[in-house]
Amino acid sequence: MTDKVFDLVIVGGGPAGLTAGIYASRAGLRTVLIEKRVLGGQTTMTDLIENYPGFTDGISGFELTAKMEEQAKKFGLEHEFFEVTSVNLAEGNLKKVAGQEKFHLAKSVIIASGRYPSKLGVKGEDELLGRGVSYCATCDGPLFKDKKVVVVGGGDAAVEEAIFLTKYVERVFVVHRRDKLRAAKVLQDKAFVNPKISFVWNSKVVRIEEDKKVSGVVVEDKKNGKQKRIEAEGAFIYVGSVPSAQFLKGFLHLDENGYIVTNETLQTSVEGVFAAGDVRNNLLKQVVTAAGEGALAAASAQRYIEEDFD
Ligand code: NAP
Repeated sequence: MTDKVFDLVIVGGGPAGLTAGIYASRAGLRTVLIEKRVLGGQTTMTDLIENYPGFTDGISGFELTAKMEEQAKKFGLEHEFFEVTSVNLAEGNLKKVAGQEKFHLAKSVIIASGRYPSKLGVKGEDELLGRGVSYCATCDGPLFKDKKVVVVGGGDAAVEEAIFLTKYVERVFVVHRRDKLRAAKVLQDKAFVNPKISFVWNSKVVRIEEDKKVSGVVVEDKKNGKQKRIEAEGAFIYVGSVPSAQFLKGFLHLDENGYIVTNETLQTSVEGVFAAGDVRNNLLKQVVTAAGEGALAAASAQRYIEEDFD
């Protein structure tokens, strides 16, 4: 239960949610941010962010989001940890943001719930999670010192994390289903000259094998159907992500991939409910754009509360 009515509830504590929190609290809105896991979100798992303005030598995702958190708290942002399971309209044009055991009422809501990693869906993936299978090189990379690991995927995340892993491991095999990477050229250039990285092209993972923990990854060449086993003790999976918006189905308009659709003020299909960052169907998913969208969503929420909420 709740006895409080907030001006604004922010769902999600990554760069979009934290920046919205900074702007809203600084503007004097009574704001609570709800996060289900850790403040900073997926960004805390990025080892080095080289393209966030103001940090000439780059900054770790953990450090950057810790600074955002500190800044938001300085302006009075409240935060709570629980999983939001629904957002609905309540009496008097208020919005009800609810978890299993509690809810909050607010005049306006910003959804900044981000994305979570997609699964590969092969045998061994679930069974060996935490025993060699990982979705976070920054968290688990140091456990694989001088070992061989496989990275699956060909996007920015896969290539960036493969490069990061070479700090620790003996060798990284990047298994990609095509013969071209999707990752940015600057990352490709770095990976291609890294002596610890080998590419396994046109190949799909068939299964992850175990001997108490990961012992190898079996891949199939898509051209000739031949299978081979890559000896490895780690399997890092970076095959894209899924928006954390399922709890909004039926309430907000989502696109065919499940991302939230907004207008140019970042208002969703429901008046007074805004969305920011990776959960939105935007064109660029970067920390700097998430932060920018958080700022815009907070400004739009403030305008809505002052001018349109009744
Ligand atoms: P992504 O760009 O969607 O790439 C996913 C990769 O996984 C693609 O190479 C894809 O192959 C592959 N893949 C998808 N499903 C697969 C399957 N079932 N089996 C095997 N491979 C599969 O995802 P991401 O790398 O997580 O990046 C997501 C977004 O975050 C992007 O917008 C990216 O720019 C951004 N991001 C940016 C940075 C950065 O700028 N430093 C870092 C991380 C993420 P295909 O290429 O064949 O489709």
